[in-house]
Amino acid sequence: MNNVFRETRELPVLELLDYIWCHQMAHHYKRQTYALTLPSTDSDYVAKHLKVFTDNCVAAWTFKVTPSVHLQALVEGPGGDKYDVMLDPELKGGMCSCRFFQQYLVPCAHAIAACYEFNQAPGKYFDKCYLNSTLQEAYQVPYPMVLLSELDLDTALDPPQRKMHRGRPATVRKEPGAGPPRQTM
Ligand SMILES: [Zn+2]
Repeated sequence: MNNVFRETRELPVLELLDYIWCHQMAHHYKRQTYALTLPSTDSDYVAKHLKVFTDNCVAAWTFKVTPSVHLQALVEGPGGDKYDVMLDPELKGGMCSCRFFQQYLVPCAHAIAACYEFNQAPGKYFDKCYLNSTLQEAYQVPYPMVLLSELDLDTALDPPQRKMHRGRPATVRKEPGAGPPRQTM
C-alpha cells in the first residue's frame, strides 16, 4: 500500500486524503463488479477457489469413519492416526481434533469423511465468510463521491486545551517494604 502512495505522499493533507479516498473508491468499485459476476450458488465459489477443499474431498475417501452419535465420529487416517469430529449443521461448522476445521472454518479431510458417513454435503460446512453472498453484501454500499470544492470550511480547528500543572510532577510513594531492597555496602 505504501508503494501506491509513493508519488502522492508529498501532497498537502487534504489532497492526500482526497487521493486515498478516490483510490479506495475505484478499488471498491472493482471488487463490487467482481462480486456481482459471481454465481448466487455459493458452492461454486468454494469449489473454484479453495483447492485445499477439493484435495480434502479426495483424501477423505481413504479414511475410516466410526460413528459415535449422529454427526459425531472417530475418523482414522491411513496411517492409523485418529481424530474426533463433530459437525454442526445449524452453525454451518463443526470441530475436529486436528484443529484445521476450527482454524480455517473449512471442513478438513476428517470432517469431510464424516460428512460422507452421515450423508451430508461438505460444502454446507463452510463458514459464511467464504460465501459469494457475503462478498456481495460487503461491497453492496458504494463509496460516496466527495468533491473538495464542496466541503464546508471548518474554522474550529484549535488544538485541545491542556492544563499544565505547576511545579515538579508528583512521584508515587512507596509503602514501607515495597520495591527492591536498598543496597548496602
Ligand atoms: Zn481434521
